[in-house]
Amino acid sequence: MTIMQCSKCGASVLPNDRFCEECGTLLIAGSCEKCGAGIEEIDEQGFCSNCGFRREPRERDWLEITIGSHLAGVSDRGLRHHHNEDFFALKQVNNAQTNILVVCDGVSSSDQSDLAAQTAAESACLTLATAWENPELAMKLAFNTALKSVSNIFYANNQNTDPPSTTIVAALVHHDTATIGWLGDSRAYWISPSGSRQLTKDDSWLTEVVAAGEMTEIEAKRSPNAHGITRWLGADADNADPSIVNFTIPGSGYLLLCTDGLWNYAPEALQLTNIIQQTSNTDVFALQPFGHPTAGVGAAIAISRSLVEFARNSGGHDNITVAVLCL
Ligand SMILES: [Zn+2]
Ligand SMILES: [Zn+2]
Repeated sequence: MTIMQCSKCGASVLPNDRFCEECGTLLIAGSCEKCGAGIEEIDEQGFCSNCGFRREPRERDWLEITIGSHLAGVSDRGLRHHHNEDFFALKQVNNAQTNILVVCDGVSSSDQSDLAAQTAAESACLTLATAWENPELAMKLAFNTALKSVSNIFYANNQNTDPPSTTIVAALVHHDTATIGWLGDSRAYWISPSGSRQLTKDDSWLTEVVAAGEMTEIEAKRSPNAHGITRWLGADADNADPSIVNFTIPGSGYLLLCTDGLWNYAPEALQLTNIIQQTSNTDVFALQPFGHPTAGVGAAIAISRSLVEFARNSGGHDNITVAVLCL
């Protein structure tokens, strides 16, 4: 007989148990919180057809921020998770000449991962907003402040969860330079008809074994370790020194920050470009076609929504967060 452990309290549970007898935690992801019926029993409005229970709508299930027509983002719980452990923060400073974007994905094996993501995104964003005049220094400062804030989250040190932890990717865009810092596998992309590219390199097991020549990417992707991250922001991390790149913005296009809930379904910059291009041509927001001189005006929220929609239509297995700056 297989004995498993409850992810919350560590008590022994049987493979068919729907709830942990010790602490009451639901053991099957994506199912009814009351009777444990599978996700297929739950309708669009959140009603369980088995027991009639309706899940309360939660504030963070769908979070949308629009700062202006050029800067916006969306975070969505997705279709399979009970909670949204992603968070993001956006800000304009310096008379709207300088833009700040931060996206975080709480590490689900850690305690209070949703709070970790929110705390990190908000504190990093605030620090970048005060220290923007020296972007690289601001980035290091922001990650250190975020680490302090996350380390201050109350953590009941029981044996089965790690201290509150999150991935983080942040961008400070000033004049024609985007300074990008990150820890973990949340990503930044440059999307433009004249050439799109991924700007960050994941801190992940997969990236490391491929870079070391130990496995091909195809082999590594088949491994159960493929999604493991090697760096993150949390009290148990060695430090919060981010990887940093300075990207010279080559012309008009979109700076996109996102969590793996999106890029798992479209990892290549070109795939994301194609999805955005389709939106730009057909969207009800009457956008100018991609490449038009006024393309991008009002597009930030439309693009964010459509990329989240794309991830949901692809399965929505994870929380999905997208932030877009049109340049
Ligand atoms: Zn039910
Ligand atoms: Zn995720």
